[in-house]
Amino acid sequence: MKAIRRFSVTAVLPEPLRPLRELAFNLRWSWHPDTRDLLRSVDPDGWRRSGADPVRMLTSVTADRLAALAADRGFVRRLDVAAADLRDYLTEPRWYQRAEGELPRAVAYFSPEFGITAALPQYSGGLGILAGDHLKSASDLGAPLIGVGLLYRHGYFRQTLDAEGQQRESYPVLDPRELPLTELTEHDGSPVRVTLALPGGRTLAARVWQAAVGRVPLLLLDSAVDGNAPAERDVTDRLYGGGSEHRLLQEMLLGIGGMRALRAYCRITGHAEPEVFHMNEGHAGFLGAERIRELDALGIGFDAATRMVRVGTVFTTHTPVPAGIDRFPEELVAQHLGPGGELAALDPGALLALGREPQEPEPGHQPQFNMAVLGLRTAQRANGVSTLHGAVAREMFAGLWPGFDPDEVPITSVTNGVHAPTWTADALLRAGDPQQLTDTELWELRRGLRENLVHEVRARLRDSWRQRGAGDGELGWIDDVLDPDVLTLGFARRVPSYKRLTLMLRDPERFKALLLHPERPIQLVVAGKAHPADEGGKRLIQELVRFSDDPEVRHRIVYLPDYGMAMARGLYAGCDVWLNNPLRPLEACGTSGMKSALNGGLNLSVRDGWWDEWCEPDFGWEIPTADGLAGGDPERRDAAEAAALYRLIEERVAPCFYARGRGRWLEMVRATLGRLGPKVLADRMVREYVTGLYAPAARAHRAMDAAAAGELAAYAERVRGEWPKVAVDHVETGEEPPVLGGALPLRARIRLGELEPAQVEVQAITGRVDESDRLVDGAPIPLKPDGGPDLEGRWTYTADIPLPHPGPFGYTVRVLPSHPLLATRPELGLTALPRDNGTEEAGILLR
Ligand SMILES: *Cc1c(COP(=O)(O)O)cnc(C)c1O
Repeated sequence: MKAIRRFSVTAVLPEPLRPLRELAFNLRWSWHPDTRDLLRSVDPDGWRRSGADPVRMLTSVTADRLAALAADRGFVRRLDVAAADLRDYLTEPRWYQRAEGELPRAVAYFSPEFGITAALPQYSGGLGILAGDHLKSASDLGAPLIGVGLLYRHGYFRQTLDAEGQQRESYPVLDPRELPLTELTEHDGSPVRVTLALPGGRTLAARVWQAAVGRVPLLLLDSAVDGNAPAERDVTDRLYGGGSEHRLLQEMLLGIGGMRALRAYCRITGHAEPEVFHMNEGHAGFLGAERIRELDALGIGFDAATRMVRVGTVFTTHTPVPAGIDRFPEELVAQHLGPGGELAALDPGALLALGREPQEPEPGHQPQFNMAVLGLRTAQRANGVSTLHGAVAREMFAGLWPGFDPDEVPITSVTNGVHAPTWTADALLRAGDPQQLTDTELWELRRGLRENLVHEVRARLRDSWRQRGAGDGELGWIDDVLDPDVLTLGFARRVPSYKRLTLMLRDPERFKALLLHPERPIQLVVAGKAHPADEGGKRLIQELVRFSDDPEVRHRIVYLPDYGMAMARGLYAGCDVWLNNPLRPLEACGTSGMKSALNGGLNLSVRDGWWDEWCEPDFGWEIPTADGLAGGDPERRDAAEAAALYRLIEERVAPCFYARGRGRWLEMVRATLGRLGPKVLADRMVREYVTGLYAPAARAHRAMDAAAAGELAAYAERVRGEWPKVAVDHVETGEEPPVLGGALPLRARIRLGELEPAQVEVQAITGRVDESDRLVDGAPIPLKPDGGPDLEGRWTYTADIPLPHPGPFGYTVRVLPSHPLLATRPELGLTALPRDNGTEEAGILLR
């Protein structure tokens, strides 16, 4: 029989056990081993059954057990200590409170997914885990963040395999009342409702759940509320499901609804209003549109409102893969945000222009509204997630700043990091400083982690085979799967094609020989989900599963279904080598290799993402890329890179691991723990965001009141109106041939239309030139006006250009808008170059 209704009965905790609730509902337990141990000891079996979820566990503890614990003075004392420790953690001054300078009173962090713990499965992969690590480190540092996201009733999906090795998806329902969440309510106890207007008079309402991530509140909007029509109830049904409209509604709820939830939260709790808004990828882009609406409603006007919003907004782009960026037909956006929809009060043309791609749509295609473009146009500060990705993003989005070289595009980078207390094995945390361990102790510690993984793999593999229809009698072989003394490689990540899950299978015989090597075998643990709509990815998984089903190799390679946070921790800790072979430069950063490094795992990776900036021979091995060599032929490229991978494993990795004495191997493990570990931290990342992006954004926000924004908007309009008349008319240099160490007198005649010299900057860009006369490392030198305009209205500008090095040298002259409230030179997207260089005009911000 099927129940018509389900609900959970909450255990009433005896008075002495009341602090258990606080400890279970604050997710700090997920990165605090002592609290976790204490919670587990309440009911070790229940802990295991609940999948290490204390809230769920507490719903199943028997009254007898609770009574016994309440009478156990030792337990109650430990509980009080843990609760006091949590309260200290939540209130004591931390790094942020001691940091110098003007910092924001609060920062809102919007993300479509958050991976905090397996007990709150609201993530699909790296983007969400990163957001979770960002909040946790912010909490540890005392940074006043507020997270904003959606609560998906099915999370992402659970992955199983069928008998043929095909991925199967299921979507178990999550009941928020069984999750570590509390509902946001008004002071009178009534639940907070956020509503959005949809076309055709429909409305989309959502309730707001709060999770406590240490000191950081996380607000999650949930559309499964009474009063919503069925279609609207399903807006937050699952991550990255549905079609274009479903996705658009999710992003409207995240950006617009999220802003309204945030305002309600601050009003009710008295929390400081955020001064800085951080969009984790373009999905949250509509938060800018909602803030423009708020300001516009005060009569500030669209342009000035946009300028005010921009100064306090930070946008992080996470992917150089175009398919990873959300784009919607403009018409669909207009229908939802224009007259008759949400944000109807705003100028619809102006709003659409914020998301319009700079390139013309392909013939026969509608113009697209691009969420990353929206993010870049509504955020004054933007970044990629590794040094290499920053450069790739500057190229990728250079079209938004025509006339500027990609290296001037105002997108910086902050390399991602990972939250050490979450991702470091307890055994390592407890061992203290690993540099103090002897070689034998360190080797044994790593072996212990590997052995734990071997046992976990066998248990998971047995579960998987049962799901695939095998009887226990057929599964005896699983007891011999993997060997705690064999070199263990890990490869786990989502399965988009650029990550090349099956590169290792390129030459199956060669790969088998590595697995089955008589003296120096390797073993491999593989995991990863393919997006449900990605048939290609599912075929790759099946190919890998089929290979690992082969009785000849199945004791040396396993594919584990349902990769998620619960599995990931043991995997990172237990693998000796973390393998990563994306198509460079498509892995913007990658974080799993960092988590492996925190546990002393060595990286074997293509020089992409973070590894490009931090790889050293002491930390692992670099898989050479063949992008140039193969002349763009993907087959040849894969073949070359796979061959290099096999050679590396056979000739370098395995001999090093199996060498007698293991000296070099342990030296590398120590170097990884000691020198790489401190770089890959989310604490380092959050500090960089605070000092490099949040603090300047807060300062700019404070300087930009409505009057200043109005002035800047008026300035921009005036400059834009005059710009067609701005020109570099004539440039001349002295007669003498230039000599090293000397200076080149430069004189330029500049037309400014009706603008004054104080409203522009005139620069010479000088430096080395390549064969095609392109400036390769151009540096700007300001030119000064000399006297008034001539009879033709041209201003004379001069400078002496230093000549610091011999060889081919070049220069050009350009005019830029200049205003104290502009954060970067390309901000208005306007520049004028000498006519034979073309006079370019762009529209980064204004129409
Ligand atoms: C870290 C992590 C990821 C992201 O790994 P990448 O190397 O960035 O692909 C994905 N899923 C889980 C469960 C993780 O822990």
